[in-house]
Amino acid sequence: RAKALGPSQYRFYAPSMNARGHEFLSLEGDLQQALEQNEFRLYYQPQVDAQSGKVVGMEGLIRWQHPKRGIVSPADFIPLLEGSGLIISVGEWVLRQACMQHRIWREAGFNDLRISVNVSATQFNDRHLMDKIQRAIKEEQMIPHLLELEITENTVMQDPVAVIETLNALRSEGVRIAIDDFGTGYSSLAYLKRFPLSVLKIDKSFVDDIGEVGGDSTIVEASISLAHKLGLQVVAEGVERVEQYEFLRSIGCDLIQGYYINRPLTEADMTDFLVKNATQ
Ligand code: C2E
Ligand code: MG
Ligand code: MG
Ligand code: MG
Repeated sequence: RAKALGPSQYRFYAPSMNARGHEFLSLEGDLQQALEQNEFRLYYQPQVDAQSGKVVGMEGLIRWQHPKRGIVSPADFIPLLEGSGLIISVGEWVLRQACMQHRIWREAGFNDLRISVNVSATQFNDRHLMDKIQRAIKEEQMIPHLLELEITENTVMQDPVAVIETLNALRSEGVRIAIDDFGTGYSSLAYLKRFPLSVLKIDKSFVDDIGEVGGDSTIVEASISLAHKLGLQVVAEGVERVEQYEFLRSIGCDLIQGYYINRPLTEADMTDFLVKNATQ
């Protein structure tokens, strides 16, 4: 995919692709300034308890409020951030923003909500990661056990010894770890068993199969049952329809995240949602 290529690759593009190449070049140039200009936003998508329907947490998802293009989705700029190493400082901004906003919600009386942020492989491998997390927790007065970091299977697959060391350090800090997009990478639960994890997020592609003609829910069911045996909580991602929700609840999935509950919301809209949810 073109997006994953570094700037030096653009000269290999066929003429018909120049426009697209330029688009990404300029996006990449704009990204340098985006952080300084305060153009990133963190949106929040609720996670509800499948049984009670109550909000128990949320995932922070980055957006770029571009001055000319409007809202840019992370799929269009995270790869560029990764390529340029900017992901390290943007990731730190995300972490701090989530902790800061969490404190505001706590002060409004929403005490036990969990908040998760996505941590890319580059960020996870940053040797200052622990230091940054400890400082963010301290300075933003975050409650460690309410903070969750989402990493993908591929991050975990890189260098097991180093990964276990980092995960143990995070665990002793009290932070929870979730495996994101489970089922799309090259790991297995048998492999993941070795790591100190708290949460498994089943990828939307498996949830999509639920209730489809010819769809197969075997993987979802097996993942939930094995995850529970390993002591992991399970979140289903990308739940869009009532029959998916009902099915997931009936097979014991713990938490539900998806458009069926809500899309990612601005902090103001999330506050309204929390208020409504609490009084329901
Ligand atoms: P993800 O972490 O797996 O996040 C879930 C994505 O699925 C989000 O897309 C969310 O808006 C979308 N989604 C949730 N429910 C539904 C649904 O019911 N239907 C559909 N069609 N989509 C749903 P989003 O916000 O565009 O983020 C895409 C990816 O970008 C994320 O996938 C994550 O890998 C990455 N990302 C987002 N924010 C950050 C960040 O702060 N740091 C890093 N490193 N990556 C991020
Ligand atoms: Mg995620
Ligand atoms: Mg995911
Ligand atoms: Mg994803």
